[in-house]
Amino acid sequence: MKSFDVIVIGAGAAGLFSAITAGQRGKKVLVLEHAKKVGRKILMSGGGRCNFTNTYTEPSNFLSANPHFCKSALSQYTQWDFIDLVSRHSIPYHEKTLGQLFCDNSSKDIVALLLKECEKYAVAIQCRESILELEQLANCFSIKTSVSQYQSGAVIVATGGLSIPSMGPHGFGYKIAKQFNLSQEPCSAALVPFVMDADWKKLYTDLSGNSLPIIAETDEASFDEAMLFTHKGLSGPAILQISSYWKKNSNVSINLLPKHRVTEELLELKQKKPDVFLKSWLAEHFTKRLVNIMCEHWFRNRRLNEFSDRDIEVIGDHLNRFQIKPETTEGYKTAEVTLGGVSTNELSSKTMMANSVPGLYFVGEVVDVTGHLGGYNFQWAWSSGWVAGQNV
Ligand SMILES: Cc1cc2nc3c(=O)[nH]c(=O)nc-3n(C[C@H](O)[C@H](O)[C@H](O)COP(=O)(O)OP(=O)(O)OC[C@H]3O[C@@H](n4cnc5c(N)ncnc54)[C@H](O)[C@@H]3O)c2cc1C
Repeated sequence: MKSFDVIVIGAGAAGLFSAITAGQRGKKVLVLEHAKKVGRKILMSGGGRCNFTNTYTEPSNFLSANPHFCKSALSQYTQWDFIDLVSRHSIPYHEKTLGQLFCDNSSKDIVALLLKECEKYAVAIQCRESILELEQLANCFSIKTSVSQYQSGAVIVATGGLSIPSMGPHGFGYKIAKQFNLSQEPCSAALVPFVMDADWKKLYTDLSGNSLPIIAETDEASFDEAMLFTHKGLSGPAILQISSYWKKNSNVSINLLPKHRVTEELLELKQKKPDVFLKSWLAEHFTKRLVNIMCEHWFRNRRLNEFSDRDIEVIGDHLNRFQIKPETTEGYKTAEVTLGGVSTNELSSKTMMANSVPGLYFVGEVVDVTGHLGGYNFQWAWSSGWVAGQNV
């Protein structure tokens, strides 16, 4: 039976990074990956250019049943540490918007970085190997795979979430947590487009492909970014972000004109230019197609002096607080991440080790820590992976 100091399950961002960190400390490390190649989600991320971190990373960019849990890892290994590593590998990158750092060339640069670091610290990587059984013995773990049998002093579970089922099978990390009686927060698809009902689709399907700057808001969060109409409903960064906070059967409030206090502006305009038609004013702010829909289905197109002040308030409310009730989301098929996972109550925030199972660690997306859109999920993978690698 082959023996290692550390066995990492999953060669994604978090798994590879924890392996590198442990290898750097002189540990003998093996990474087991059931797919035929490593870092598949890194390769498909950021439209092929991997949004590998965010310069504004802070704990408030993460959702978790315990919002304080991520603080320790994020402060032990920061975005600046990863940026420094990217620079040492001479990978060209740029800031796209809102602190989001993307590779200039390709996500392949990040995978190459990780593989070079693995090689430097003699981390062994074994692909196409499925773990069948994990057992805790008196002072080590025994792992049976489709190919071989191993022993290791520590195991790092870095099996990711449930999104993109075509990359499956998923859920092994949750199975291990269950095997060791570790509690979990319910999982759901996050950073995912909304699907709207049939009436909505009938009305707005022509707008598919149109995008506009908005603020999407629930009681818990608000995002000032773009919204995109799709054939199924709504997407775009603002919608993906708010989807992580949306609960079934609840509304999301959309401010369609975030830079305007519509009621005040229209009341003032009514005084100054009472003959102006509502449609002309709308046309200054929205595409022709959306204005046509608004004037056919939302408002009557009259001169402003033909609206009472109350009517104008209703128009203002509609534009600044447009209420949508998504039917559902597109689910794991298109979700970027999984909300929920292994409960942070079960783990040490300083080491990522399970409190009740010495030597068993969980890192990355399998843990109940989910980042906003914009490079935060990879930063969580690097930070949590680094912390585990430092402590195994
Ligand atoms: C389309 C898309 C685009 C994204 N873009 C970005 C972005 O630009 N920026 C950002 O920050 N985040 C992005 N994300 C999210 C980000 O990819 C994930 O949060 C991140 O990859 C999680 O890293 P991880 O290592 O925890 O899990 P994963 O990357 O999912 O890695 C888990 C690994 O474990 C392997 N595995 C699973 N089960 C087993 C098993 N039983 N045995 C062996 N191996 C197993 C899997 O094959 C996989 O290789 C994107 C996600 C998607 C789907």
